[in-house]
Amino acid sequence: MRIWVDGRIVEDREATVSVLSPTLNYGFGVFEGIRAYWNGKNLYVFRLAEHMERLLRSARIIGMDIPYTAEELVKATVETIRANGYREDLYIRPVAFIAKPQIGLDVRGVQASVAIAALPFGKYLKAEGVRAAVVSWRRVHTSMMPVMAKATGIYLNSIMAVLEAKSRGYDEAILLNAEGKVVEGSGENIFVVRRGILMTPPVEDGILEGITRETVITLAGELGIHVLEKSISREELYTADEAFFVGTAAEVTPIVEIDGRPLPRGPITERLARKYREVVLGQDEKYLGWLTPVY
Ligand code: PMP
Repeated sequence: MRIWVDGRIVEDREATVSVLSPTLNYGFGVFEGIRAYWNGKNLYVFRLAEHMERLLRSARIIGMDIPYTAEELVKATVETIRANGYREDLYIRPVAFIAKPQIGLDVRGVQASVAIAALPFGKYLKAEGVRAAVVSWRRVHTSMMPVMAKATGIYLNSIMAVLEAKSRGYDEAILLNAEGKVVEGSGENIFVVRRGILMTPPVEDGILEGITRETVITLAGELGIHVLEKSISREELYTADEAFFVGTAAEVTPIVEIDGRPLPRGPITERLARKYREVVLGQDEKYLGWLTPVY
């Protein structure tokens, strides 16, 4: 696999970091997760510019200086995919990190590197629906960690949540914030339908500002489905008519059980999942601006 590292396309084994990298040791890094879809004729990267802009915002939040513009990173992504000649669905992982050794925690002025890797990728969660558990680990609070940044260190919180959900026999975790409000999955935002109203937790409850979340809010508006950004309690979650996860990897995935309580795959979830699929495959002209063609 060929990857892009600081302006050069190299074989992945040549892209190395020190074992004393502060990104590896302390979680000082930021990353993105992006998908590209092959529609039989061309490969389209979904909302590539928005992902690169979020990467730069995440870096700004944690105080990391990335020496590239979003436009340069967009071009680099296309170059990476072409260098591999991919003609299939992909997951793209840009990561900004410190490659050099450093023991101390003062990372002011240290040089950040960026790598972009792309690899063939299928479904992340079961398309037919997942069984989810509200886990005991809480989502890190925004007063403790910059949750709005997609920062590497924060993902230990997500890994602990996944391990707990899996150890209890579930497919995915749902996390509450420190106040007990439902916030997100381990790597997805969450939507809940109650009495015909679609709702999702607000950014201020401490979630990642998901690009799929924003996409789904836009598509719901077009379909005439009212969306409310409001705090969601555990009881509202348990009495939902429908619930689903959204994310680049997860796309729109129905939640079919929460803590032993079965949920049907409902009509609002189905309509949004179908619409999302059409949009990412370039079948809706209105949203072609969200797609970057690779070839
Ligand atoms: N929340 C978390 C914690 C995530 O890791 C992700 C995946 N990036 C999301 C939500 C969904 O974000 P997006 O739709 O931008 O992929």
